[in-house]
Amino acid sequence: MSETVFDVAIVGYGPAGATLANLLGQYGLSTVVIEKDAEIYALPRAIHFDGEVMRVLETAGLRAAVEAISRAGLTGMHFNNAQGETLLIRGGTNARGPHGCATNHYFHQPELEFVLRQGVQRFECVQVHTQHEVTAIEENDDCVRLVVQNLQTNSSSIVQARYVVGCDGARSLVRKVLGTKMQDLGLHQPWLVFDVLLKTDVPSLPDHTVQHCDPERPMTYCNVTGKRRRWEIMLLPGDDPAELVKPESLWKLVKPWVQPDQADIERAVIYTFHSIIAQGWRRDRLLLAGDAAHQTPPFLGQGMCAGIRDAANLAWKLDAVLHGRASDDLLNTYESERSPHVHAFIDLAVRLGDIIQTTDPQAAQERDAKFKAGQPTIFEFPAPRLGPGVWLGEAAPVGQIFPQPELADGRLLDQAIGLHFAVIGTKEVLAQVSEATRQRWQRHSVAMLAATDPQILNWLQTHKVSAVLVRPDRYIAGVACSAAELDEISQCLPHVAEPVH
Ligand SMILES: Cc1cc2nc3c(=O)[nH]c(=O)nc-3n(C[C@H](O)[C@H](O)[C@H](O)COP(=O)(O)OP(=O)(O)OC[C@H]3O[C@@H](n4cnc5c(N)ncnc54)[C@H](O)[C@@H]3O)c2cc1C
Repeated sequence: MSETVFDVAIVGYGPAGATLANLLGQYGLSTVVIEKDAEIYALPRAIHFDGEVMRVLETAGLRAAVEAISRAGLTGMHFNNAQGETLLIRGGTNARGPHGCATNHYFHQPELEFVLRQGVQRFECVQVHTQHEVTAIEENDDCVRLVVQNLQTNSSSIVQARYVVGCDGARSLVRKVLGTKMQDLGLHQPWLVFDVLLKTDVPSLPDHTVQHCDPERPMTYCNVTGKRRRWEIMLLPGDDPAELVKPESLWKLVKPWVQPDQADIERAVIYTFHSIIAQGWRRDRLLLAGDAAHQTPPFLGQGMCAGIRDAANLAWKLDAVLHGRASDDLLNTYESERSPHVHAFIDLAVRLGDIIQTTDPQAAQERDAKFKAGQPTIFEFPAPRLGPGVWLGEAAPVGQIFPQPELADGRLLDQAIGLHFAVIGTKEVLAQVSEATRQRWQRHSVAMLAATDPQILNWLQTHKVSAVLVRPDRYIAGVACSAAELDEISQCLPHVAEPVH
């Protein structure tokens, strides 16, 4: 490593760091990734991501590679009581949902991380140093200096960057240096995570995920990919963790589902699920993303998803600031937008956790009666809005993600938009905007799309507008009924008060 000052240093090469590295590579920003481990983390963790995340990975140019290692989840998630009666079903199981792909996807986290790392190799502007640990961080006016220990040679060096993003996980060093406090959202519960590889077909195992809401032993069953199946099993008072991970205990716990001659144990690990969120995701040139900024219990399969959304939100803002199209203040909108969004998902996961983790038999009976066991309610996740930031408008859909329809020429919308803002509207309204707006669009390489495709026209009609301004992360920055309104919402495009370079 040399005297170079990188645009961005990413600390940590998990899914958040690797996604950010891919996106920054697309923007041509000089980036260095520093990761202490030699290999991808091999223990069982994420198995589900949603359609929005597939869309981010598509923007990173990795959709085909990710599809090759994942499967579309078309059968939902069933919340069953101890008697096997269904209380709730998570819907949203379309093969082509609002993001132009399936709404839910299942995968094995180490395989996804491998794809992300392969993707990074496309970019000459991105350097990766594994077996290097950031041990100290010094900030000065122009850049940040990272003290980096080479874990193979035991020598240390300095890496300099204009911005540092701590994607360094739950025990983040960058967060400690920031001095950020974590807000506790209330749930901390140990669960045993048990992965097996089936040796034979077990037709009785469902395709769909089952939240087995049995007060005697709450557990989750998941069909992951291929022959991999997972049980997440809640620890109860009096459980001895060391005993629980022994093969005889594990097989006993999953006896109603699978027998030892039908599967090989892959791994059994105890995790404590947390619900916490950082209060302060940025200070000057230091930022946080992924588990370093928030942790959620995995009942919704959203922890990694949130980190990938962080990367999508941050990448275009770093690009705009570092390429001189926006002032550094733009980066303050990262936490203001993302924190309420993550909060909404954590709250929902905690609420679902309350349903699943009920261990009092009386409370379980009341729950079953409330949800009318056997006549399940189908629910879908709401699409949370961003908190205040780079968007203008009173109400949804502004601040929510714009859908990705297929265009008449067969392309998906994001392919037509590319990596920058886009304005999509009727020919008339696009033709009538002011010269100042046109110049603003040009400065930001805004893609202009005349709305001729039926699905886009239908969206505009449904929302009773003539144009929509879509951000590089596909969130809606504003909607307009006239050229004058389009001029107005275009004001939210970042502008340069104090360029960084
Ligand atoms: C049982 C379980 C099930 C889950 N299921 C889901 C799911 O279905 N869907 C979902 O979306 N999420 C799920 N999650 C959450 C998901 O696994 C995490 O949110 C995700 O791995 C976090 O990614 P990250 O990149 O932020 O952090 P990490 O993956 O923790 O990566 C951080 C990296 O930083 C490195 N690092 C740390 N400090 C330093 C340093 N000083 N210098 C250099 N490198 C450093 C670490 O070595 C590590 O590689 C689950 C988690 C668990 C435990």
